[in-house]
Amino acid sequence: MTTARTVLVTGGNRGIGFAIAEDFLAEGHRVAVISRSGHGPSGSLTVRADMTDAASIDAAFTEIEATYGPVEVVVANAGITRDTLLMRMSEDDFTSVIDTNLSGAFRVVKRASKGMLKARFGRIVLISSVVGLYGSAGQVNYSASKSGLIGLARSVTRELGARGITANVVAPGFIETDMTAALPEAQQADYKRSIPAGRFATPSEVARVVSWLAGDDAAYISGAVIPVDGGLGMGH
Ligand code: NDP
Repeated sequence: MTTARTVLVTGGNRGIGFAIAEDFLAEGHRVAVISRSGHGPSGSLTVRADMTDAASIDAAFTEIEATYGPVEVVVANAGITRDTLLMRMSEDDFTSVIDTNLSGAFRVVKRASKGMLKARFGRIVLISSVVGLYGSAGQVNYSASKSGLIGLARSVTRELGARGITANVVAPGFIETDMTAALPEAQQADYKRSIPAGRFATPSEVARVVSWLAGDDAAYISGAVIPVDGGLGMGH
């Protein structure tokens, strides 16, 4: 039985984030979800905030803290893609993806670290991607944002590791969500052929790993990159 915690999942209104929020609820934690639209699973507290706006993240934390107390576990999951080849990628295509995926994670981690330092306890989990390690044609922006999360987690580990705070990265491969449903079917079939497991994962297969990293048993794991990719990125 793991200790009940106050958990924040960004982008918890659908896809992987929704499954992560559901998993934490099922384990008996107090769960808040941040998104710009929609709602988290029943039993969670949904707070509107935009990952690109530090003031809205600060306000969301204040609301969550008033309801559930300090955030002890933060999962930076919100992310976007704006895929196109390098030669066609605009400055805005690049910076908007970095702003949401990487700077957004920085904003929530920085805000969460205040309470974690005081409590001398914290669990930070950043949702990266296999392409952050592997690279991906047409995803220079997304891939760079996902690699950046690794440097973020490892530097946070070095800064805050002695205060009972861990920071880890989960790197999913292809997961059945709106993001992958948007890919043409022929492309999905191609990808499945290149994945040793021969299939995409369900969001809950990612959620289980995140829950474990946030739990009491993972206190000595920090700065790690855990792939959940059916063997797609082995060795990277
Ligand atoms: P979805 O597109 O289904 O969901 C993205 C989530 O992020 C939504 O909840 C969305 O909510 C939220 N979000 C996006 N922009 C912002 C913003 N500016 N402020 C607040 N919330 C925001 O994605 P997935 O569930 O597929 O992916 C979740 C994470 O996992 C992402 O970081 C993605 O990069 C990563 N990932 C996904 C893989 C996959 O195969 N699906 C593979 C590897 C990694 P709203 O739009 O309402 O704000």
